[in-house]
Amino acid sequence: MADCYELRCRECGKTWGNAPRSFCDDCFASLEVSFDYDALKKTAHRENLASRPFDMWRYKEFLPLPEDFTPPNSVGGTPLVRARHLSERWGVDNLYVKNDAVCFPTLSFKDRVVAVALAAARRFNFQTVGCSSTGNLANAVAAQSAQQGFDACVFIPADLEPAKILNTAVYGARIVRILGNYDHVNRLCAQIADRFQWGLVNVNLRPYYAEGSKTHGFEIAEQLGWRLPDNVVVPMAGGSLIGKIAKAFRELVTLGWVEPKPVKFFGAQATGCSPISDGVKRNLARFEPQKPQTIARSLAIGNPADGPYAMKLIRESGGWAEDISDPEIIAAIKELAEAEGIFAETAGGVTAGVTQKLLTQGRIQKHETTVVSITGNGLKTTDALIAEYPLSEPIPPRLEAFEALLDQQLAVPTAIGKGA
Ligand SMILES: *Cc1c(COP(=O)(O)O)cnc(C)c1O
Ligand SMILES: [Zn+2]
Repeated sequence: MADCYELRCRECGKTWGNAPRSFCDDCFASLEVSFDYDALKKTAHRENLASRPFDMWRYKEFLPLPEDFTPPNSVGGTPLVRARHLSERWGVDNLYVKNDAVCFPTLSFKDRVVAVALAAARRFNFQTVGCSSTGNLANAVAAQSAQQGFDACVFIPADLEPAKILNTAVYGARIVRILGNYDHVNRLCAQIADRFQWGLVNVNLRPYYAEGSKTHGFEIAEQLGWRLPDNVVVPMAGGSLIGKIAKAFRELVTLGWVEPKPVKFFGAQATGCSPISDGVKRNLARFEPQKPQTIARSLAIGNPADGPYAMKLIRESGGWAEDISDPEIIAAIKELAEAEGIFAETAGGVTAGVTQKLLTQGRIQKHETTVVSITGNGLKTTDALIAEYPLSEPIPPRLEAFEALLDQQLAVPTAIGKGA
């Protein structure tokens, strides 16, 4: 049987079969995987999911996988958390956190995209794979390449967070640090993909890679009891994830797995790198590229490849985009941790903080069902927070020392029975 999907130009609609390419040769627009939904209706049935593990492969029919594909490992399958304490603090009724901070195996949603990209890399016979990365993608490429026996070579801005570099190095990937920001790295990678026979997951394999993000959306719908939310708030770097969550919801409606329902898409950025939210807020026809300057390194893409599509989706859905400052990001990371016990990376601070801002602005209503996409783990961006928590003086291992410390630090009465 032939594939029930192929690459299609997002502007002129010309189809290109299945190949490692991401641009239309005719009009230079980007390509997207397009599915034959009539064929999909015959193979994909909601009842079949009952016997499958809760990870992203339970939606395998919706992914551009080779015919003979067997999942190499478990990826995705993260919790949708009812955020009761944040709801109370923010005065809303139905707030959820989709927690990809605990995505398997490398603690960010990038595991989902890499899983699909590596399936394509195997199909197209690449031995070496790689990426241009703001950190999380390099972690995911390195780990899954190690597990599946690919050689990995990743390209990153030289000044990335140490934890993100270490989390790549440990898997044995070759790391190339570039003097420049992500946009410089990405431009170089486009040339490398042309010159070498390498599968760069977000360059020449990008259309396949991007489909992996849909599983974040499928899981949300299933975890809400096969319902769509009223609102989703999504962090934006290249602007791909937000569009793929929308695609996932559309596909579920097309196949009759959920009732049709308007969903508003809200995009979140850091003010220090906010080309997409700036474009939405100023109602620009085209976003203006920026030079990133923010602690939200994983979102620091000044010239986002899918920015125009993200702006269109946000507008057409009736949503909005917002951005917050670096101190607001830190405050939001703390609030999410203290209220819900979820330690998100800086991108998660962006999303949580922007959600609160949208509530204050009245763009999200109190009674609506809102899902906040938390996409990465706080252990990877500890350098952004370390100054907030100076260490306390150590004490000797004696009860009196502890009591003295309590007296001094907390100014609360010490244990009962001590006498006056
Ligand atoms: C890459 C990334 C994003 C944004 O992804 P895009 O699809 O490029 O918009 C969001 N959060 C985290 C933690 C990321 O690493
Ligand atoms: Zn075209």
